[in-house]
Amino acid sequence: MNDMTTIDRTQRPYSAAAQAALARKPALFINNEWVASSHGALIEVEDPSSGKIVSHVVDASDRDVDRAVAAARAAFDDGRWSGLPPMVRERTMHRLADLLEAHADEFAELEAIDNGKPKGMAGAVDVPGAMAHIRFMAGWASKINGEVIQPYSIPDGAFFGYTRKEPVGVCAQIVPWNFPLLMACLKIAPALAAGCTIVLKPAEQTSLTALRLADLIAEAGFPAGVVNVITGNGHTAGDRMVKHPDVDKIAFTGSTEIGKLINRNATASLKRVTLELGGKSPVVVMPDVDVAQAAPGAAGAIWFNSGQVCVAGSRLYAHRSIFDQVIEGVAEQAPFWAPRASLDPEGHAGPLISKEQFDRVMGYIEAGKRDGASVAIGGDAPAVDGGYYVNPTVLVDVNPQMSVVREEIFGPVVVAQRFDDIDEVAKAANDTCYGLGAGIWTKDVATMHKLASKIKAGTVWGNCHAVIDTALPFGGYKESGLGREQGRQGIEAYLETKTVILQL
Ligand code: ADP
Repeated sequence: MNDMTTIDRTQRPYSAAAQAALARKPALFINNEWVASSHGALIEVEDPSSGKIVSHVVDASDRDVDRAVAAARAAFDDGRWSGLPPMVRERTMHRLADLLEAHADEFAELEAIDNGKPKGMAGAVDVPGAMAHIRFMAGWASKINGEVIQPYSIPDGAFFGYTRKEPVGVCAQIVPWNFPLLMACLKIAPALAAGCTIVLKPAEQTSLTALRLADLIAEAGFPAGVVNVITGNGHTAGDRMVKHPDVDKIAFTGSTEIGKLINRNATASLKRVTLELGGKSPVVVMPDVDVAQAAPGAAGAIWFNSGQVCVAGSRLYAHRSIFDQVIEGVAEQAPFWAPRASLDPEGHAGPLISKEQFDRVMGYIEAGKRDGASVAIGGDAPAVDGGYYVNPTVLVDVNPQMSVVREEIFGPVVVAQRFDDIDEVAKAANDTCYGLGAGIWTKDVATMHKLASKIKAGTVWGNCHAVIDTALPFGGYKESGLGREQGRQGIEAYLETKTVILQL
């Protein structure tokens, strides 16, 4: 095994383009203009690879939120976006995707600096994913149709009934810090295709790419007020967005705890709500697999993005007959996923997002050890001068009562358990309040289908993990969410159905 202790985790110098983005005066994007906040409060932008403060963004006030919502409301109510021919909406969205592509390298670097993920990963996953969401949904702008429906109890010929699909209105979209640009584009794309207007708030830890995206939104030619981007804290600006009477729909991705709070707060005015929340996704490895293929798959399922993934495969169930081989195979992948500074070209994983998250993850590892778990690999943090690095970790000798098995850690920590048959493993996989994703590794097609139907999760992967495609619906069972994003269902979530009945 390579020696992970000798990695130099000093952050590399930033490019001139990144330095220019960091040197921007903190401002909000409202009505296609950069405007100052109503008060002077700022949020520090930290590079998690070094722990250094590298910029500041606005901490939006209630008045700032109100201003952004008013802009979105006016832009929706006068139909300056929904009233355009679908072809024009589609082409504007394609221009935005093309602009993103033209600036792909800059976006990848900014994401790496802001979030800590390797620039190579941001360039391979986040930026192309963001473009795909916009391009796929752009096509839907011209394919939103109602239906002509034959009446049942009123005479056909005397009455004519049909449905129209109309945009839901002003959307408040609140996104997390783990895939900042990708999540922002996943959110705005269906709303734009449907004809909605938007107030988008990135997470307070990672606002840089959403702000840069706003430049491109203006350049692409979206009418003023269609997309407004405000930066700020969740419990203040986010809360104001959720409770605002002029907002028609909330789309949120983040923790289950905040998702539940948002759902409660949105109930007063019955806002439409879609929620993409947490998970504790199982990865099941059946005895017939080729361990040399399944073990790296299980390692990537948890260690990609340092485990800061809602569908992270954080509970590994390996068949008793191959358990030791699987653990060994997963452990062999640890050097590949060893955390490095985000601009290190050798890196496949980075630091955690913040000190808070670092303490949380290390706290879980300690709790697991106290409860009797053994560390098969990792379980510690490399010695560094700044930055929030945690080594890839596998915990064994765990039981279903332990917090490390039950709770979402959101870090590079997997708990591994043995099983004997598929009914037992399906029961164990479902023994959770979550239901976001699940991975199954087997060559046996019958076992694959049986397990895929038994496990309660919004997405089941077979012989792969966390493969996301914008055309396929994504969302959670149980406490992992409400509604679906992506695909046809993703656009439906931004439409109201109006029934029209005419007496002829
Ligand atoms: P995490 O625990 O992963 O940091 P959160 O669920 O706290 O995720 O945050 C995800 C997003 O939700 C962020 O943009 C954050 O600002 C926002 N947020 C946090 N609290 C609230 C709230 N009370 N109301 C609205 N948005 C919130």
